Amino acid sequence: MPHDHDDHQHDNELDPMAARVRALETILTEKGLIDPLAIDAIVETYETKVGPRNGAKVVAKAWSDAGFSEWLKRDATAAIASLGFSGRQGEHMQAVFNTEETHNLVVCTLCSCYPWSVLGLPPVWYKSPPYRSRAVIDPRGVLAEFDVILPETTHIRVWDSTAELRYLVVPVRPEGSDDLNEEQLTDLVTRNSMIGTGFALPPVKP
Ligand code: FE
Repeated sequence: MPHDHDDHQHDNELDPMAARVRALETILTEKGLIDPLAIDAIVETYETKVGPRNGAKVVAKAWSDAGFSEWLKRDATAAIASLGFSGRQGEHMQAVFNTEETHNLVVCTLCSCYPWSVLGLPPVWYKSPPYRSRAVIDPRGVLAEFDVILPETTHIRVWDSTAELRYLVVPVRPEGSDDLNEEQLTDLVTRNSMIGTGFALPPVKP
């Protein structure tokens, strides 16, 4: 499958839009009109909270509803769109399910293709050259740096994203979460757990 990189920015060059944004940010900061820390805080919020909420809803529904889970496995693009989360035209989604036997990890080796419609903005490390190269060469080592330690018997499968096909990891449902409803389950689904660089959170004991 061809890897189309025309639609977003590469690391080594700023495209004209990014260059303009950078210049604008510099001018506004110099004039004291904006605080770059405030902007970083907003971006951080979108990276870790607002954006990934959509994906968390998809995962929580898959955990709660076997029919939806089957649909997600078979046709993730349609199942996700049924919840109102759809990407740009031509963007297809595939959901990959973690099990005890297999752990899935998502990367874009050539740039930063990412499932925007369900996860929002990609984190900086996802776009970094070390993650992109090492996720393929040494996935177990990369996961250890994220404190994801897997048994040797667990196979790690790495999925390389493209502009045409993007992946959503469905993490293993945490133990002790049987009594939680879909809304409560949503809170256990972290962004990293949907990239494969984390686990879903254990439920908070009452
Ligand atoms: Fe890419």
